Amino acid sequence: MRVGVVGTGYVGLVTGIVLAELGNDVICVEKDLAKLDLLRQGIPPIYEPGVEEMLRRVLGSGHLKISDSIEQAVHVCEVVFIAVGTPPAEDGSPDLTAVKAVATEIGKHIRHHTVIVNKSTVPVGTGDLVEKIILDQGVLPSMFDVVSNPEFLREGSAIQDTLNPDRIVIGSKRNEAADLLRELYAPMEAQTIVTDLSSAELIKYSANAFLAMKISFINAVSRVCELCGANVADVAAGIGSDKRIGNQFLHAGLGWGGSCFPKDVQGMIKTAERLNYDFQLLKAVVEINESQTVEFLRRVEARLGGLANKKIGLMGLAFKANTDDIRDAKSIVIIDTVLAAGGSIVAYDPVAAENVRKTYPNIQYVENVYEVSDGSDAIILVTEWNEFRQLDLSRLAACMKEPILFDGRRLYSRKAAEHAGFEYHTVGE
Ligand code: NAD
Repeated sequence: MRVGVVGTGYVGLVTGIVLAELGNDVICVEKDLAKLDLLRQGIPPIYEPGVEEMLRRVLGSGHLKISDSIEQAVHVCEVVFIAVGTPPAEDGSPDLTAVKAVATEIGKHIRHHTVIVNKSTVPVGTGDLVEKIILDQGVLPSMFDVVSNPEFLREGSAIQDTLNPDRIVIGSKRNEAADLLRELYAPMEAQTIVTDLSSAELIKYSANAFLAMKISFINAVSRVCELCGANVADVAAGIGSDKRIGNQFLHAGLGWGGSCFPKDVQGMIKTAERLNYDFQLLKAVVEINESQTVEFLRRVEARLGGLANKKIGLMGLAFKANTDDIRDAKSIVIIDTVLAAGGSIVAYDPVAAENVRKTYPNIQYVENVYEVSDGSDAIILVTEWNEFRQLDLSRLAACMKEPILFDGRRLYSRKAAEHAGFEYHTVGE
């Protein structure tokens, strides 16, 4: 099939290269000239495991073309994906500027029947809005379909998630359009759920809101554990083994962040508000999440007798492991708090340091994780990178003024950390 993908971020690029790898002829359209330049050389503008190799392969096989022109893609493709960003606006609702701009551009250039697939995460009603924008360009209704096909990939395992999705959701007004997408996704052999447009749009928000709720729930439980001397890992194991609950997303820590959960939970709250429903449960989910880091930092501050003139070593900056994404990362809250209190930061992250450096050029970045301990008053483990699991903790402890470790992700066992000489603090015990 000939497929266009507009936007080459985490979602668009991975969708484009995977569909090209499966033998489709794909045109990925990007407006950012610096990204275009990199992509044409086979260099992904994002860090995501496996993307570079696949990108080079599909460029080499000729199944992927990179373009700056939506017009070019619309002229040759029967399916065009919209995979641009939908960042939160000032009031927390999703900013649809990019989606609308792309829809307008697509509408201007439709010449043959085109299925326009919205892969960006968008509020209920956006499919209808895209349809209206295209009709406003004078396109006949018989010339196009708008389909909602929300994306569930996770950064860090985006290729695997795209190739092996738990389910594929297709929201469409017409069966023929849904069938075309079924055909495109047939090689994935995944369960396909076909719905109306609104339900598909709501599935994405509801899924992310539910997962965020699960994490906030266990984080709230972790606070109770801290107050009563219970251990949150044991509680999570005990409840997660109940099939009705499930053991995933029950890992207590500093809270959720990233480019999706914060904006999608807010998006769901705002969508409900627009429909006159006060989604109090989700408001509490957000509140718990924010207070989780605040409370953790309060413990650091209490232990150190304030943060002024204290040097804090940060292990990890990315919002989670295996990504360079720092959008709404907990590291940012920690950096801001420590700097505002008159402390200083020394940070290590295997891939995300450059992104943080753009906003915080004056904090100290080190190339080796062991250097975060050099003269530090305390270390905070922020991101659960695999490479941190097998560290020589004694070596880490040795260079500190006083070896104090605040493990924000419960990566280490208390026993191992204490054996290495650390005074060990973590969430939920
Ligand atoms: P991103 O910001 O990384 O990438 C968006 C890309 O679109 C950018 O490269 C931008 O330059 C490009 N773009 C914007 N306007 C354009 C235009 N007019 N023409 C061509 N290119 C244009 O975003 P992302 O993380 O890939 O997310 C895209 C959407 O998918 C969002 O709605 C997001 O919520 C959703 N989503 C993201 C993830 C994730 O893990 N990142 C997972 C599921 C869903």
